[in-house]
Amino acid sequence: MPTPPTFADVQAAAERIRGHAHRTPVLTSRRIDAETGAHLYFKCENFQRMGAFKFRGAFNALSRFDEAQRRAGVVTYSSGNHSQAIALAASILDIPATIVMPHDAPESKVAATLGYGASVVRYDRYTEDREEIGRALAAEKGYTLVPPYDHPDVIAGQGTATMELFEESGELDALFVCLGGGGLLSGAALAARALAPSCRVVGVEPEAGDDGLRSFRTGSIVHIDTPDTIADGAQTQHLGVLPFEIIRRDVDDIVTASDAELVTAMRVFASTMKIVVEPTGCLAFAAVRRLAADLAGQRVGVLVSGGNVDLARFAALVTS
Ligand SMILES: *Cc1c(COP(=O)(O)O)cnc(C)c1O
Repeated sequence: MPTPPTFADVQAAAERIRGHAHRTPVLTSRRIDAETGAHLYFKCENFQRMGAFKFRGAFNALSRFDEAQRRAGVVTYSSGNHSQAIALAASILDIPATIVMPHDAPESKVAATLGYGASVVRYDRYTEDREEIGRALAAEKGYTLVPPYDHPDVIAGQGTATMELFEESGELDALFVCLGGGGLLSGAALAARALAPSCRVVGVEPEAGDDGLRSFRTGSIVHIDTPDTIADGAQTQHLGVLPFEIIRRDVDDIVTASDAELVTAMRVFASTMKIVVEPTGCLAFAAVRRLAADLAGQRVGVLVSGGNVDLARFAALVTS
């Protein structure tokens, strides 16, 4: 395993993605501030290219490929946003991409991945191991594997979202970030420790899958079965090794949010701020709403991680 990245790697990533990734807006809402009693700064990665922060890490990782790696291509496995991020970054950099996706992946995601020019290899998620397939393809074809979170360049790239947030908001008392495998949270923690040392950094994961919280408390990575939650971007079974090293050192706390709280947050985003946020992207705001009494008067950053949700599913959730 390589060593974890540092804030200098986040700064280098910011240079690499400049002009390729969007500098997403930081939104505020007087109405939500009045309701929560805190001053909230929403970093809106639902407006990032391909609809989620994952473009940052993917583009940073692929821009570091040498000539031979570029020619051979990249492989990754994911049913969600990381696949689309790798596919888009690869198409921009002219690198062939192969994405390992389950047979039952949503057709819209498969279509989006194919639309960016990537090849898709399907597998059965009940009988086959996607990581094994990814590694086998890498070994056989000479592809470079870029996993969704356990990679230094991916973590450094994800950290640029928080770096941009602090550049706009100035010092914050607390920062809430959603947590799946830990790429986004660990990158955020690197940026926060460097730019706002006194800011409390809090990770938020689905209540149904609190492996991150248990890992944080026990000091070793806890593995769980795929959690049953609407937060599909955080249905990870365990934290990454590199993210966990950073999270243990630089994160102050991990909390959870229930599916019901995610739906409420999704409605508030839509009705008050007029933005479409996918269930996983609502984790941080859901936790802030739950903990509002403790955050009164504080300046709080909220990382809104993505907005990729089918309209029919969005409609069903917000009207449920
Ligand atoms: C991947 C993803 C997450 C979780 O990020 P990790 O780096 O795996 O912790 C959260 N929200 C969205 C929208 C995602 O795509």
